[in-house]
Amino acid sequence: MRILLIEDERQLSEVLTTLLKQQKYTVDAAFDGVSGEEYARSGVYDIIILDVMLPKKNGLDVLRSLRDAKIGTPVLLLTAKSEVEDKISGLDRGADDYLTKPFATGELLARLRAMTRRTGEFTGDELIYHDMVLDRNTHELRCRSGGAQTRTQAQTRTQTKTQTQTQDQRDKPQSQTHKAQERDQRGKPQDRDPYNKVQLAIKEYQILELLMQNSRQIIPKERFIEKIWGYDTDAEYNAIEVYISFIRKKLAAIHSRVQIKAVRGVGYTLEENG
Ligand code: CA
Repeated sequence: MRILLIEDERQLSEVLTTLLKQQKYTVDAAFDGVSGEEYARSGVYDIIILDVMLPKKNGLDVLRSLRDAKIGTPVLLLTAKSEVEDKISGLDRGADDYLTKPFATGELLARLRAMTRRTGEFTGDELIYHDMVLDRNTHELRCRSGGAQTRTQAQTRTQTKTQTQTQDQRDKPQSQTHKAQERDQRGKPQDRDPYNKVQLAIKEYQILELLMQNSRQIIPKERFIEKIWGYDTDAEYNAIEVYISFIRKKLAAIHSRVQIKAVRGVGYTLEENG
């Protein structure tokens, strides 16, 4: 896991670098916006920690340049307490999360873990999560029927990991993989179009995109409001509920195994069924 830290306060940068290295992350540090952006454009990083107030080019402009250049690396924005507006424009410009200074290092590590656990990933213009494929240009949602590919890949990863850990348990994960493959074959519709498609309205698309990009997190309703409707809005929480119910119907229509789960009093998250 390789992290790019763009932070001009030398002392903070050093403390964070030491902390992250202790956690087995590989860390590169940049101290201004211009060099930070150059590093980031290499595309080799798994996460970018980006301070907003930076010399030469501020963090928000760096972020916008990166997203314009189709660099989709997850970005954790560091903002000062007074910079509420920065958080909002940061999220609008494609930041994935933000942390307000000063912060506890434990919180930073928790955010990073959440960001790296994410399974939704962009391949070109498509965002993929389990059997769902979301097209960023057309806002079309497709279902990969059977979900065989993701499932088998997940099983293979488990198998490799277990094998390196314990030699004598070799047979067990292999037979599990075999069983998983059998399940996939049975669940695969043989005589159907491989993709079931549905068109999403803009708000439906934005909500689902946010859920897919943060698939292991529970997204609070206020985060949807902030990110989709903007900070100065009269949108009520029940607007989200209405859109969620539309998306649920569409997920059912394309026979996706993914469901949107409501966590009472907290928000929404994605869940895979079966
Ligand atoms: Ca700074």
